[in-house]
Amino acid sequence: MDLNTITEVVRPADAEAVKKWQSGYAWLAGGTWLFSEPQITTHTLVDIESFNWPSLVTTPEGLEIAATCKVIELNRYTPPPEWEAAGLFPKCCRAFLASFKIWNEATVGGNIVMSLPAGPMISLTAALEGVCKLWPRNGAPREVSVTDFVTGNHANVLAPGELLRLIFLPASALRKKYAFRRFTLTQLGRSEALLIGTLCPERGEFVLTVTASTLRPVQLRFENVPTAETLRSVLDQAVPFELYLDDVHGSPGHRQHLTYFFAEQIREELSA
Ligand SMILES: Cc1cc2nc3c(=O)[nH]c(=O)nc-3n(C[C@H](O)[C@H](O)[C@H](O)COP(=O)(O)OP(=O)(O)OC[C@H]3O[C@@H](n4cnc5c(N)ncnc54)[C@H](O)[C@@H]3O)c2cc1C
Repeated sequence: MDLNTITEVVRPADAEAVKKWQSGYAWLAGGTWLFSEPQITTHTLVDIESFNWPSLVTTPEGLEIAATCKVIELNRYTPPPEWEAAGLFPKCCRAFLASFKIWNEATVGGNIVMSLPAGPMISLTAALEGVCKLWPRNGAPREVSVTDFVTGNHANVLAPGELLRLIFLPASALRKKYAFRRFTLTQLGRSEALLIGTLCPERGEFVLTVTASTLRPVQLRFENVPTAETLRSVLDQAVPFELYLDDVHGSPGHRQHLTYFFAEQIREELSA
């Protein structure tokens, strides 16, 4: 869509080149959301692709995913063989509404900053214990877990002009076993529920991450795989009914049902 409120698009060499942040400015990543609806309060787009951050950096400690990494690049990534949980990458990359049109341009960071319940890059990086590195306009870089980054439907902890620089996934999480469940009302539709469980092969720790059915990610940690009764009761406490999303893609009651159903399937799969 043509954005008729935009009067300027700037392509700075780095973030420091943006001297003053004004209301009406917006960082431009893949543009798949920015160009999908009127942006009546925005007059200047600041393109972050020109920063040329390396998309994916593999180290013994883990994987650094630049905010500007395209979803398609993550989908094509070849992980070290011991990173079993990297099997989640293609599953989550394909979990967009209208998938391929979006994933060719959308960035991992743009998806996380959108902070929509059905943000599959949020599901992925939250489940793999990701940590966001943020660059505030004035002040030292700060770190916040993906689970804490998203605070609600289309809401997060970013201050005006603050940049999401990268998401770090620790190798310890990437080595885990995983189970993935997702439901959409239509093929290639928006996720109604997306749950991921992980199991630490050394310590037996079980982590369940609930996304899409809830307004924000909810993560439950257990020292070992819990019983069905314990899992259900912890879920009940962690996810009050008001936290289930209500929109055209699913009612809160159906999302709650799917959450219980998939949580139990994941528990069974990872205890096998
Ligand atoms: C047909 C269609 C289907 C879609 N399906 C889904 C879906 O299933 N799930 C879903 O979650 N979304 C969906 N979207 C919304 C959107 O396309 C995605 O969330 C996409 O991942 C956004 O990434 P982007 O790089 O294109 O972000 P952009 O559109 O460039 O930016 C999105 C927002 O994030 C800000 N931003 C981007 N990068 C940064 C950064 N590094 N630091 C700070 N702020 C930043 C921008 O200023 C803007 O406010 C869909 C959109 C369309 C048009």
